[in-house]
Amino acid sequence: MNLGVQYYRAPFPEQKYWEDDFKRIKDCGLNTVQLWVLWAWVEAKPGQFVFEDYDRLMELAEKNRLGVILSTIAEIQPYWIHREAPGSEMIDHMGHKVISSNRVECHFGLTPGGCTDHPGVWERMGQFLTQTVERYGKSSALRGWDAWNELRWNVHAEARVCYCPHTLAAFRGWLDLKYGGLDGLNRAWKRRYGQWDEVMPGKMPGRPYTEMMAWEHFITWRANQHGWQRYDLMKKLDPQRPVTLHGGEPCACSSGWPPECTAIDRGNDWNFADDLDGVGCSSFPKWFGIDDADFGVRVEFVKSAAREKLVWLSEVQGGRASTGFNVYQPVDALSQQRWIWNGLACGVDTILFWCWRDEVFGTESAGFGLTGRDGLAEERLAAMKITGDLLQKNLALFQSYRPDKATVGVFFSPQSNYLTWAEEGNSKRSVSALAGYCRALVKNSIPYVVVEEEHLATLDGLKILFLPRTLVMSDAVEEALSAFIKKGGTLVCESECGAFNPQGLYKYPPDRFIARLSGLSEVGRRALTGDTISVRADQQTVTLGVKQWVTPWERNGAQKIWAEHADGVLIGEVPVGQGKLILCGCYLGDAYREKETPDFEQFVRACVFNSGWLPKIKVQLPSGATESFFYIKSGVSNGRRLIFVFFPSDADNLTLQFEKDFLPGRAVVDLISGAKLTVNATEEGEELALHSPVWRFSVLLVE
Ligand SMILES: [Zn+2]
Repeated sequence: MNLGVQYYRAPFPEQKYWEDDFKRIKDCGLNTVQLWVLWAWVEAKPGQFVFEDYDRLMELAEKNRLGVILSTIAEIQPYWIHREAPGSEMIDHMGHKVISSNRVECHFGLTPGGCTDHPGVWERMGQFLTQTVERYGKSSALRGWDAWNELRWNVHAEARVCYCPHTLAAFRGWLDLKYGGLDGLNRAWKRRYGQWDEVMPGKMPGRPYTEMMAWEHFITWRANQHGWQRYDLMKKLDPQRPVTLHGGEPCACSSGWPPECTAIDRGNDWNFADDLDGVGCSSFPKWFGIDDADFGVRVEFVKSAAREKLVWLSEVQGGRASTGFNVYQPVDALSQQRWIWNGLACGVDTILFWCWRDEVFGTESAGFGLTGRDGLAEERLAAMKITGDLLQKNLALFQSYRPDKATVGVFFSPQSNYLTWAEEGNSKRSVSALAGYCRALVKNSIPYVVVEEEHLATLDGLKILFLPRTLVMSDAVEEALSAFIKKGGTLVCESECGAFNPQGLYKYPPDRFIARLSGLSEVGRRALTGDTISVRADQQTVTLGVKQWVTPWERNGAQKIWAEHADGVLIGEVPVGQGKLILCGCYLGDAYREKETPDFEQFVRACVFNSGWLPKIKVQLPSGATESFFYIKSGVSNGRRLIFVFFPSDADNLTLQFEKDFLPGRAVVDLISGAKLTVNATEEGEELALHSPVWRFSVLLVE
């Protein structure tokens, strides 16, 4: 288990600091450093690899008994790339050659540089990766490889890329394989292309969806393919160490904002996890306003994608952020500790902070250092020491810890993101809808898993699946969801669920999957008459926010009605096989994301309880506590139960109530505070009274 910090982004920090810094890193309880190995820096002249600085840093790591993670930054390309690989410039969607430049947070090297579909670029990039792995693969300090940082490939292209002949050939090849030739493509797309060179990718949003969605999907696939190429090369040279990569955000949060991005343009984490040893993401909570619930949502996205593979929180905010002349919120020790322990509760394997010292160049100057000058460095290091020692002491316990398996799922449909982007130039509605349901589940402390549309094995064992804004469904998805519901599962769908096929073509309501299952259709789109609706859920009336439009459902008398509309049923429950459908003719998830209400959380809870899942741990808050957010996450390590409890900000005491026979024993120790506690038997099960420790969370080990 790595708890570490990013140290070197050549040429900073300067060498005069290294020796003392490494000693301090070790002293503050961290066990790992991460170094950026920059292609442009290492191979500043073609064919001449200069690793002296890295050699010295590796020596220092060994001397201080620190592990090392090497981050191979092959996407910061040498300035000579276009000279040595002529014609390798990316081409943008307007047919212009992309002029590369230094990247905003990198002092030396070109971005985006040459297109990796150009064989000369990949050949040289591969040589750099080979040299790096061959040089350090045998080092005893090396813990693993982060093969691609934040999956950056199109940064500073300033327009959509890449439309060069090599990439267009790859796009057509991808379609050829997918559709089994041009005839197959014409049948699926309902077109009459005569030759492959007539098949052009989408250029702009707001045009026909078909080729734009295909292009977006291809761009995702292409990033996955590039990640696999790096992995394959590095893993063959160093089969022992894990080779992972990480996004700047989980791919399910990637809404593709202009100018250079499309939805999920940096690859799909689920596909990365199919091929690589693990996946990860960056998180800068104080910078981007990511609270504890959203931090949990992000980690669950990555964990869901990783399945049994490694999960690396590869960049967690070390100190106060800096961009330009702004002053952002400082990073207090306890917030930072909550991120670490929230991550551990979700089952992550590696946590790396960004970074050790404040940055010293460009817009990030004066920012991000764990030891930086935001006034809180000393308290951060003191707290880190406690956590570092705790992890060291309980290493086996945390390494074997597995969070409880979820029986609640939330569906992630990249195709729906592509369609939304193709219409609007971003897929924020889709991203918000998904994140809204996930956040409501986190706030309910209901364990859940995110089910990606091409990884449907995850459906096994689920009782309920939420389908936020799932506008697009493939035949394979429809088949799997039909089987799921007929076997007893509950599906909660929103307006126009499965209204489009993956080619972006619209289906009339009676032709849709839900209509085939339920015999009921939506009557059509109706304008909103307000921004909330009243819904009867779990014997209570809740007020839910709605967005965009409503599509009421036909009535058939078999429905249990949750909400009415003049033209039909707005939300209703219909039995299908042994399972049921909860049909929502509206969009609730993104409305909640925009304006948070306890009512939506109650609605989500009602749906989950209605599907047959009930919590094994309940929380009793003291009367008068107003902030509802407390968070419990639990799992097992070699037969011993661990319970992570995050206290609300306005309550110091709470009581946990356990289902009968849920706990393996009665003696409980709080690993954080060291307090020994006893579980008391009650009529319904067992009960544990907790008082908040100074850190405002407890990690309970039940013996
Ligand atoms: Zn290209």
